Amino acid sequence: MAAFKCPACGESTWGSLKHCPRCGEPLIRNCPECGGTWRYIYKSAYQFCPSCGTRVEPASLRR
Ligand SMILES: [Zn+2]
Ligand SMILES: [Zn+2]
Repeated sequence: MAAFKCPACGESTWGSLKHCPRCGEPLIRNCPECGGTWRYIYKSAYQFCPSCGTRVEPASLRR
């Protein structure tokens, strides 16, 4: 199973975690348009929904 890092704190996460066990950052993004979900992969969060193409902002940058 592929490990990847939390976009907020850099903690290594794995498996089917939905939130970072260290800081609580959501590790799964949800499209407000179509409801599609996808995961963060390392630092390169998607900027567009892979399902419908709607632009989405990285959640971690809003804080
Ligand atoms: Zn974290
Ligand atoms: Zn979408």
